[in-house]
Amino acid sequence: MSEPTIKARLPERIARLEDIAFNFWWSWQPEARDLFKQVDLSLWADTQHSPVLILSKVPEARLQALARDPGFLARYDKLVEALNRYLDRWDTWFGRNHPQVKERVAYFSAEFGLHNSLRIYSGGLGILAGDHCKSASDLGVPLVGVGFMYPKGHVQQRIGPDGWQQNVYEAADWSVSPVRPVLDAAGQRLILKVPVGTSQVHVAVWVVLAGRVKLYLMDTHVEGNAPEDQEISDRLYGGDRAKRLRQEVVLGIGGVRMLRALEVPVSVYHANEGHAAFLFLERIREMVASGKSFRDAAREVAETSVFTTHTPVPAGHDVFTEEMIAEYFKDYWPSLKLEREEFMGLGRLPGQSGWNMTALAMRLASLRNGVSRRHGQVSRKMWAPLWEGEGRGDAPIGHITNGVHLATWVHRDLLKTLDKHLGEGWGERQDDPAVWAKVNSIPDAELWSVHQRNKAEFFRYLRRRLRRRWMEGHTEASQVVGQGAILDPEALTIGFARRFASYKRATLVLRDLGRLKAMLLDSWKPVQFVFAGKSHPDDDLGKGFIQRIYQLARDPAFGGRIAFIEDYDMHLARYLVYGVDLWLNNPQPPLEACGTSGIKAAVNGIPNLSIADGWWVEGFNGLNGWSIGSAEAQVGAPPTDAADAAALYDTIEGLVVPLFYDRPDGIPTGWVKMMKESIRSISPRFCANRMVREYVDRCYLPAHSAYTSQRTAPEPEPYVVPSWK
Ligand SMILES: *Cc1c(COP(=O)(O)O)cnc(C)c1O
Repeated sequence: MSEPTIKARLPERIARLEDIAFNFWWSWQPEARDLFKQVDLSLWADTQHSPVLILSKVPEARLQALARDPGFLARYDKLVEALNRYLDRWDTWFGRNHPQVKERVAYFSAEFGLHNSLRIYSGGLGILAGDHCKSASDLGVPLVGVGFMYPKGHVQQRIGPDGWQQNVYEAADWSVSPVRPVLDAAGQRLILKVPVGTSQVHVAVWVVLAGRVKLYLMDTHVEGNAPEDQEISDRLYGGDRAKRLRQEVVLGIGGVRMLRALEVPVSVYHANEGHAAFLFLERIREMVASGKSFRDAAREVAETSVFTTHTPVPAGHDVFTEEMIAEYFKDYWPSLKLEREEFMGLGRLPGQSGWNMTALAMRLASLRNGVSRRHGQVSRKMWAPLWEGEGRGDAPIGHITNGVHLATWVHRDLLKTLDKHLGEGWGERQDDPAVWAKVNSIPDAELWSVHQRNKAEFFRYLRRRLRRRWMEGHTEASQVVGQGAILDPEALTIGFARRFASYKRATLVLRDLGRLKAMLLDSWKPVQFVFAGKSHPDDDLGKGFIQRIYQLARDPAFGGRIAFIEDYDMHLARYLVYGVDLWLNNPQPPLEACGTSGIKAAVNGIPNLSIADGWWVEGFNGLNGWSIGSAEAQVGAPPTDAADAAALYDTIEGLVVPLFYDRPDGIPTGWVKMMKESIRSISPRFCANRMVREYVDRCYLPAHSAYTSQRTAPEPEPYVVPSWK
């Protein structure tokens, strides 16, 4: 592993470009993005906006020239100052309100989606974790992330001519990624030893910066590890059950040991989904080792631990056989002062066999939440069996609805418009609904023209991608059409992009092809659909959905008005969530725990058409989009495909199309009104700042005070036998 050579390439005068490139803060600063564009516009596009790659590839002569260019230097100096100010700032929301808190919140997650140039995420869960870190940084919340580096990179999606998803693995090159190795006091690579079953696995540590927040990432591709141990951190969610279990041992137990090695002072532990739940066992082990009973240790750990569950879909909860657990933990449970049966009981869910990671986390963390109001309800019922013995009908699980990091997801032109109409500094008060009332004063023509430009930008991006793929010989002509080459920039464009898990029902809109075709081919009011999304590499059902859509996309009978775009990732997502006209979501309720892509669209003024599920049950207000179906469905109820598809067609034909094409003065005023209502009503309630503040107020601060009182609780007075007796 060679050190990045960027430092050596940069002239002294602009040396701090390196600091900017290595802190993802740049990705939510329009001025920083401009600066890297100015370094090299083609590289900016070719690297999919990766400053570290740009700085390592751009000719040194160009860097020398920039170091003498007064215009560039002025921008550079301003930006360096802005970064310094951001990093040093003490009067943040958190700093002002809770100056007494010195310790950190340790946020454990198997994935983090900060930016496309660091592919350690797969989908919604990771991007949520990334947005959480960014908002924590903006608000000054002292948080550190704990996760994994995945050296074999993430799976990329290619679609073969037959429409079948092919999985392409692209190894990551860490020497040109915005990550840095963590060294020990002697200047050597910090290597931890983590017990995984009977072996000691060596774990290297990397650090990634997201503003003020540091993410520490573990990596087992280390010399000295047996090949099967090196593979532990190969890739996200890859491999068999044993490998998954080994990953989770490293994430939870290794994660805690890493924080100790780094001497990070932590008072609160937050497990983002069950993958990291072993962290709670490791904390109990530490306390037991210092002399506490298991019961006392477990109580103290629970009081200071937060657990967020992210899905009601059974496959989303890891279950391991007790034999596997025994294989890896038989030397571990004695250190908790537990017998095998007591230990196994921690991971059991009544009515199910095996060891359930979510059950473990629910038992060992006392601050538990789902990710939307509806998901909270569903979770309370779903996990009730864990509390059966206590005679309660539901589980003590609350909810904190997910949000999105506005500075990451809102198009910069819209941000500028908001600056103009909401007043500078609105970002500081973005979760105050009153701030957003002024959205109504944006002139219709202004908002519509921003949207038209964003839509054009999306179509340009699409064609550029396609042209390249075609020229590289990866794609046949009919595939080029199927991927959107003859989409019509004027037509009502409906976007559907998300993982192709079966409960998301990507093919629902294809149920009545006759009715669909009539909408698509209407001469005056045409509709078109843009699909994107990956299926899990082992999920043939999901791949079948993709194939079905792909075949229609290539079928001349549908006029090129259906497109399936390859390789949905954060980069493509950004273009999609501001570039289409309407965002569609039609999961099988109540299986969408929250769904965040619709929020990303909504804050860009793209109305949602969605099944009443997840966040939309709270978000829909009758004026900001369309809601179909009932929010009452229960887990395991029969699918409602026929009724939901019919409602979908009725809504598009009867309400969406007429509103979009009704343009008395060239502008669809009714539609624009809905766009404004979407921005106004959804931004303050579903921004990540609101979410993080809720985590602080309802979880982190109570957990922190528990930690403080645990530490300061006086030792019980010893009873001394009076000597005169
Ligand atoms: C936002 C996002 C998701 C999550 O979208 P959902 O609506 O929750 O399914 C998944 N993938 C990417 C690339 C995203 O940007």
